[in-house]
Amino acid sequence: MTALTESLLVHASRNLPRYTSYPTALAFQPAPDDALTRDWLGAIRPTDALSIYVHVPFCERLCWYCGCHTSVPNGYDRIADFLGRLAREMDLWSAALPPHAGAAHVHFGGGSPNSLATADFTDLMATIGRRFRLRPGAEVAVELDPGHLDPDFARGLGAAGVTRASLGVQTFDPEVQRRVNRIQPFERVQAAVDDIRRGGVEAINFDMMYGLPGQTPDNVAASLTTALSLVPDRVALFGYAHVPWMKRHQAMIPAEDLADVAGRWSQAEAAESVLLAHGYVRIGMDHFAHPGDPMAAQLTDGRLRRNFQGYTDDSAAVLIGLGPSAISACPEGYAQNASRVDQWAAALERGRLPVSRQLATTGEDRLRGAVIERLMCDLEVDVGSVCLAHGCAAGALDDGLNMARALMADGLCAVSARQIRVSPGLSRLARVVAACFDQRPAPPSARYSLAI
Ligand code: SF4
Repeated sequence: MTALTESLLVHASRNLPRYTSYPTALAFQPAPDDALTRDWLGAIRPTDALSIYVHVPFCERLCWYCGCHTSVPNGYDRIADFLGRLAREMDLWSAALPPHAGAAHVHFGGGSPNSLATADFTDLMATIGRRFRLRPGAEVAVELDPGHLDPDFARGLGAAGVTRASLGVQTFDPEVQRRVNRIQPFERVQAAVDDIRRGGVEAINFDMMYGLPGQTPDNVAASLTTALSLVPDRVALFGYAHVPWMKRHQAMIPAEDLADVAGRWSQAEAAESVLLAHGYVRIGMDHFAHPGDPMAAQLTDGRLRRNFQGYTDDSAAVLIGLGPSAISACPEGYAQNASRVDQWAAALERGRLPVSRQLATTGEDRLRGAVIERLMCDLEVDVGSVCLAHGCAAGALDDGLNMARALMADGLCAVSARQIRVSPGLSRLARVVAACFDQRPAPPSARYSLAI
């Protein structure tokens, strides 16, 4: 247990990016057309593997805490329409790609990919295979809402090629579930896990939360204990981000029902204690893995990565994002699809890649991003070595090192020569240390979520 001192409380109360990219998506600028994205795609080498992300912007229900880009379709027509346009989008991206090494990773997120009909999901998987050519042993991961998971859909995932399923569990406390409009009893989640495993998908992730209305250290710990009885391979532990100015439905959660920073800290500690007591390995800021999970080995080898889906073992050089709001990433920069379905669809109708925002990264962005990624993944970094590996002087980021040194007095990290290590027990504040290397301040209108 790490005591929340007054100085740590100040840092835990800061609003900071989660650094799933650097620069963050808030730095992206309007894209006049798709020319720059096409230039980046043209630079892909035959040996470059792809990662494919598919954003399904639909859910059967709207959970009040949700921070995702999604909506309730009220019938299947909108979903069918979406699938037709998605096929068109896949045609456009695959035609824009030069020879490449195939897709090493496919990730379905949203929204809830299980809002698709079983046959449509199977067809979508087959189309992705034809358009982007899956590499042998490719990981295919899908996010699922266990509260609305059709048993046939769950049992068909393995045959469709899915290798990892990620279930939004969040909490088992019935009162908390009621207050966030996400009712899903344990038996339903258990049945979903059984169906998924029976269908041949062995790897299962759970998302769990703290900071929701009605959560306490005790009921958070109880939910984690119950969740671990189903033996997930990985657990992502997220603090609820209350941003009703960005997500209007979050206004259904009264701010006065939420724990303060000290309360959130205690809840996170309670959850982490359960996970560690059950033998899970801490991964970066907020993930935990069974010791036998590949992510634990990747952490040990320094190969853990961080991208828009969070911590990942995906090392592909190029990410192609499909669907509204999806982000693509190339070594040269980022391109985000239009978030509004009508604008995304209109671009596709004109035969354009549907990018609406983009950012060409500079060499300094890539250098700072590499340091931030290592800090977020490994919780330590040799800044001088990263600078040299990027062709810069070892002291190129001494400004950030000096800022990190200033955090030593508060116990957040240790800095020796040009090496930084986030203090044991404070990994959940890793982004405070990472922010020392962020030279792209957020626009004044932007407000990030709490660091804890
Ligand atoms: S099911 Fe998931 S994506 Fe859909 S509204 Fe709930 S939290 Fe958001």
